[in-house]
Amino acid sequence: MMNISEKAKKTIDSCRFCWMCRHVCPIGNATGQERNTARARALGSSLVARGAEEIKVIAANVYECALCGACTNNCVTGWDPKTFIIEERREIILENAAPEYIKALLKKYFETGNIYGKKADGIPETAYGGGEEILFVAGTDAVVNAPENAVNALALIKKAGERVSFIKNQDSGAALYFLTGKTRETEEAAKRFAEDIKGYKKIVFYDPTDLALVSHEYKEWGIEISGNAVSFNEYLLYLTESGKLKPKKSGKRYSLQDNYAYARDLDDAETGRKLIEKVGENKDMLLCGKEANFAGSLIMNEYMPEVMKKVAENRWRDAINSDCETLVTESPSEYVMLKKTEPEGKRVITVEEMLAENL
Ligand code: SF4
Ligand code: SF4
Repeated sequence: MMNISEKAKKTIDSCRFCWMCRHVCPIGNATGQERNTARARALGSSLVARGAEEIKVIAANVYECALCGACTNNCVTGWDPKTFIIEERREIILENAAPEYIKALLKKYFETGNIYGKKADGIPETAYGGGEEILFVAGTDAVVNAPENAVNALALIKKAGERVSFIKNQDSGAALYFLTGKTRETEEAAKRFAEDIKGYKKIVFYDPTDLALVSHEYKEWGIEISGNAVSFNEYLLYLTESGKLKPKKSGKRYSLQDNYAYARDLDDAETGRKLIEKVGENKDMLLCGKEANFAGSLIMNEYMPEVMKKVAENRWRDAINSDCETLVTESPSEYVMLKKTEPEGKRVITVEEMLAENL
């Protein structure tokens, strides 16, 4: 029997198996398999919750969910299927029933400090340190897998004349939360991070996944952060509106790759578009804003690379069908995945690259 909350059980029980969520799941759309939809997971979970199946039977499928929330947005019951997925991950870990490839990622995390088992050696030592009031948090995905993004973001902030601090600890606990839910280890990582970012007035989060965790889960777990947590987009908007950055408006067309954490978890699909309007023309893609179609996860790319490639290619297909040429990403994960699959004649840039090319 699974030890999950009443809320999670209710969410499982309330699934009407209506299949409204079927067409929106980016993983189901990439694999073409029904097992990857919220509906199928609710079905499997209800068997486990009633003791008719063991949790290990559904374990692999539970890890095939990106927690992107597209189903949540479309679910006719108004419940959130992510609720039981994240609790099931904790149960799977506690029962030692995780697939070997998930255990391997966790092993790397405990050995090296991140699930990728890599060093943040793309970040020069001179990047660390800085001012005392504002902290810039790039997050693990950026410092390990897209260090040039973190370096470019810091360079743009410097250009605006701001002095921000940059520290070694870039781990909010987001990867552990994704893989293990709310375990003791996740909470410990979150507490360490909260301790290390103490004392700053403003904390700018580059990765919306980190900001969503700090804004929602930290609060729920009673972990307080002392400063004002803002998104990188909000910070960039402040820098342009205060005249610290003076981008010029061109006729260029940009299309925002809405990140699900921004658009849904943080309810902000506007700031990215306002930034586009500062420098050019906004051209929306299919499935944007609250309906954001996810373009990939670096964590999942570690254990299901073929599916993640397909997810990113599917997003490019949306861009092509909407006649969009330049995609602007808000998340390092989506940037890396879209960059890897960039079709000829199209390009993907980060939001800071967009501003920088119009200064
Ligand atoms: S959260 Fe996203 S990946 Fe997971 S089932 Fe829902 S739509 Fe699919
Ligand atoms: S939309 Fe909601 S109720 Fe319908 S199958 Fe999907 S998860 Fe179940």
